[in-house]
Amino acid sequence: MAHVISDACVSCGSCAGACPVGAISDGGSKYEIDAATCIDCGACEGVCPTGAISAE
Ligand code: SF4
Ligand code: SF4
Repeated sequence: MAHVISDACVSCGSCAGACPVGAISDGGSKYEIDAATCIDCGACEGVCPTGAISAE
């Protein structure tokens, strides 16, 4: 299991800075979470202004 980012992402970058394991990167059209690295802590969910992040 991992958190995922939907098309509601506006590429603000806030989530990448909040992730303790560096699982989030700029994927071009939106930010992406590396499922193999994500530890499901939920920290990114709370900082997203558009609610684009959710548990898979
Ligand atoms: S749930 Fe935690 S580990 Fe996973 S991408 Fe979000 S901040 Fe990073
Ligand atoms: S915080 Fe939300 S809107 Fe900002 S880059 Fe992350 S997923 Fe996209």
